[in-house]
Amino acid sequence: MTGVHQTSNIQYNYWSVAELMPKDEIKKLQLCRLKEQVNYLWENSPFYRDKWEKSNFYPDKISAIEDIKQIPILSKEEIRISQKEDPPFGMMKMPGRGPINRVAMTSGTTGEPVLIPFTKEDYFGVFCEGGVRGLWAAGVRKEDVVHAAYGFLPFVGLAGVYDAAEHFIGSLVIPGGVWDSLTRLKMIKKFKVTVLMGTPTYLLHLASVAAENGIDTCKLGIRRVLTTGECGSASVANTGLRLQKAWGCKVYDFSGTQESNYISWTCDEGTSHLNEDLIYCEILNPETNEPVGPGEPGKLVITDLVQKTHPVIRFETGDIVGGIDSESKCACGRNLSILKGYSGRVGDIIKVKGVCVSVSGIENVLRGMESCSDNYEYMALNDGEKDKILVRLEPRKDIEPGCWDGVRRKVSEALRESFMINMDVEVIPPGSLPVFDLKAKRFRDIR
Ligand SMILES: [Zn+2]
Repeated sequence: MTGVHQTSNIQYNYWSVAELMPKDEIKKLQLCRLKEQVNYLWENSPFYRDKWEKSNFYPDKISAIEDIKQIPILSKEEIRISQKEDPPFGMMKMPGRGPINRVAMTSGTTGEPVLIPFTKEDYFGVFCEGGVRGLWAAGVRKEDVVHAAYGFLPFVGLAGVYDAAEHFIGSLVIPGGVWDSLTRLKMIKKFKVTVLMGTPTYLLHLASVAAENGIDTCKLGIRRVLTTGECGSASVANTGLRLQKAWGCKVYDFSGTQESNYISWTCDEGTSHLNEDLIYCEILNPETNEPVGPGEPGKLVITDLVQKTHPVIRFETGDIVGGIDSESKCACGRNLSILKGYSGRVGDIIKVKGVCVSVSGIENVLRGMESCSDNYEYMALNDGEKDKILVRLEPRKDIEPGCWDGVRRKVSEALRESFMINMDVEVIPPGSLPVFDLKAKRFRDIR
């Protein structure tokens, strides 16, 4: 099911047969792979064996997929500690597994970067396989010229789809990690790029640089924009619409975690499908760690079912998601369950006056307003009595300072309507906030 699809002249609608598997077959496959994975780790990984024994978990306790909840959860900090004690890879490299052909690492924004080693088999057979399905669903074909607007370290998010486009689909791929935005735009034109990949933040920025330099992005011939690394079109509808307008084409979104794989990707219907034959996803209540009800929101915990070099088992991704819908049928014909969007990182979602405020929620309001630029930040403050939220935003550059107060009032109103609480809004001069080349950091908790 995870083998490399051979490209040919036949135009398949789907990349993998896994996309069409009936639900009960997927469930059977997940259980079979989970059992196999757990037994493999029990036999081969001193890290997992020790961790599981301490929690009184043994492989024979898995007889149904729901039994996965008996396995203790794995945190990012545990991975870091293991890499510190047993450098460089710690538990992220299974003993005897090799040779290692490639290394990726996390950005290290929340601590020491985590190093991620790949064998050729796991890189192409599992990681790229997780991404190529989304490329294919987005209509990327061998005639395309694909540009990945990012460097290859420390962010691995686009490496798999970049390599999949080259090696699986046979597109021409154009790297260009260190180009400045204007050079990048010139190269996009020169190479006649048709598929553009990047983070939503950077691709919106790139479009604004184009506008400032009189380049019409809609005439560049780009027919697909693919994003990952942040909440994209599948999570923040108005970010998707902005990207669509900025580049004059359809927008697709991948989600994933660097420690594992691409978790989901959007089809032509804009639905986010889970790679559920490769990764088992659970949604847990962030406070109790108990599974939430079907379709309910919570924190995302994932288990690698196939990958063998650095499998993570019940890994806390740190993301809050809207839930998993395993019942609805997507018009694209795929049976893979539907991920109902990301709300943000666990620490970026705060409760103020009993209301959960998320990055994706604020972003959707701001990006739905014509007068707001793409740049904003928000913070949680305490004024000595109570917690409150301050949103600071840059207006569009062509809006006169005399009109900023009107912008502020309109944004306050829209936020109140959306969240049912009052937030402080400050309109600041364009160019005040940092420009992010990769992922934006928009939330600060300074309570
Ligand atoms: Zn679909």
